[in-house]
Amino acid sequence: MPLKLGIPRETAKGERRVAINPTVISKLTKLGVEVYVEQGAGESALIPDSHFTGAILVSSLEELYDSSNIIWRVQAPTSDEVNGMRDGTVLIGTLMAHNNIAMLKSLQEKKVTSYSMELIPRIARAQSMDVISSQAAIAGYKAAIMGADIAPRFFPMLMTTAGTIRPSKVIVIGAGVAGLEAIATAKRLGAVVEAYDVRPEAKEHIESLGAKAIELSISSVSKEGYAVDLSTEEREQQQQELADHITSADVLITTAQVLGKPAPKIIPQSTVEAMKDGAVIIDLAAEDGGNCSLTKPGETIKHGGVVIHGPLNVASQVPIHASEMYAKNLFNFTQLLIDKNGNYTPDYEDEIVIGALLTKDGEVMHEGTVELLNKVLGEN
Ligand code: NAD
Repeated sequence: MPLKLGIPRETAKGERRVAINPTVISKLTKLGVEVYVEQGAGESALIPDSHFTGAILVSSLEELYDSSNIIWRVQAPTSDEVNGMRDGTVLIGTLMAHNNIAMLKSLQEKKVTSYSMELIPRIARAQSMDVISSQAAIAGYKAAIMGADIAPRFFPMLMTTAGTIRPSKVIVIGAGVAGLEAIATAKRLGAVVEAYDVRPEAKEHIESLGAKAIELSISSVSKEGYAVDLSTEEREQQQQELADHITSADVLITTAQVLGKPAPKIIPQSTVEAMKDGAVIIDLAAEDGGNCSLTKPGETIKHGGVVIHGPLNVASQVPIHASEMYAKNLFNFTQLLIDKNGNYTPDYEDEIVIGALLTKDGEVMHEGTVELLNKVLGEN
């Protein structure tokens, strides 16, 4: 019995990505998987139905659910959409259940087996499935483009008959996946780039892209190599030391995140007020509250002469490539769930499979989400 995989239209507001692309359809069909796509699912990613060669098009979500036993999505379905699923459906997507307890409850009630892509352990073997990295790289690229677009200055040095224009200085805070892509893109656009990260090992990554690493007295890293939250004193020290550098920036791109926490506040109002007129802040951490204390998520505001842009769901603004990368991540993960004949045979001994497993047989399986749920239920 071949596996039947369904791709619905995304319904979240402003979402332009789709969880499939033509190349991945052909990889799936080679494995014997039947692919069903809801008509128009690729429309906002500029992939017309006619490009889904090898897939079966269905005209409604209801028909898609009836035809499929596995559903791939970009963002979480609504509770109503989960309630329309058949019992025992397998759902794979970036479900972010910690932000959506109602949807989590629906997954339990419908006994949906769900895997959440953002929960995949970030080990070397899982790199090809890492949607956080693939989508962050896109966001970093786009952040540099947004900075160049909003800034009232050129990025590159220009030697013209009207004189020589000095290049812009771009400062990037947080040199993880998004920050490094922002550095690379700003460099390609001709800016002078400096960057800072609280993890000491980021210095080498920053310099390998031809940017200057800003070194402060503060560093903080877990034994797994990830940034950890700073104490109040360390945060104040960091803000003060960084302020001297930031006042020289034409464009400041902030990408700092700490796993499972609100975005660290690194740029206080006083630093913004010391920046140049015409300076631009692109706060990629806006989704988690922002690295700048003045950021308004989803808005572009002006504070004095400084523009502060807090974009949301940035990867969705590059929907063709974001969908392609996302679909490949899903395909690589789904391969762990099926055998060579395309049958659903998840190996719950595999740390990647069990790490991503959110719900099964009406139970929440992911430890962190169970803790969160108990906390929420305890508060009510
Ligand atoms: P992230 O999005 O969680 O955070 C972005 C960056 O913000 C990180 O580099 C972090 O160190 C930095 N940061 C946090 N607090 C800060 C502060 N107060 N000041 C300055 N910077 C701060 O991280 P990410 O981009 O998803 O991943 C970070 C790194 O982890 C990557 O660059 C990579 O080296 C590593 N990684 C490894 C794997 C793997 O498979 N081994 C997968 C993904 C990422």
